[in-house]
Amino acid sequence: MFYDDLSPYAYPITEDGDVFTEVGTGTRFVTVRGAYRRLNIGWLEAGQPWTAGPAPAEFVSKLLTVLEEQAVNEALGLHECDLCPTPPDDAHPWHKPRPGLRRAGVGTGEIRVPGAPGTAYAAPSLIGHYVLDHGYLPPREFVDAVLAFDLRDRSAAYPSIAFPWIPDDAELYDALVD
Ligand SMILES: [Zn+2]
Repeated sequence: MFYDDLSPYAYPITEDGDVFTEVGTGTRFVTVRGAYRRLNIGWLEAGQPWTAGPAPAEFVSKLLTVLEEQAVNEALGLHECDLCPTPPDDAHPWHKPRPGLRRAGVGTGEIRVPGAPGTAYAAPSLIGHYVLDHGYLPPREFVDAVLAFDLRDRSAAYPSIAFPWIPDDAELYDALVD
């Protein structure tokens, strides 16, 4: 699916909030509603315009760290890259890069990067593949936000989630307890 960079995030299924998976346990899920506004970044699609260019190495490295440390809205299913010349092969594990690629062209979930106060950037996990394998260069303000993102900055109530704006009253679902 395609959304213009910096347009308001309106993924219909998640209108009721962002679900952060606690990376590490994978069993606790925190739903955040209305704590920040969301701007789209990196929702690319063949036939739609996007910007290519050299991404700063420091940005790429930090982006990959964010992708490792965050998991948002993972239950919404797989996103497939349609910029790749050949479609994903069912016989190949979807989460592994195919030969010639640095990142898998299929991804699940999204990331959130804090921007100006009250605004978070909302990108699909595939953004790593788009940057590394297709030369996508996100808007400068997103590049700067990723570089400025201190992943140790966390809410008091949810220190295990690498995002600073989880409200204390966010709704927790613990699969181990249930
Ligand atoms: Zn691709």
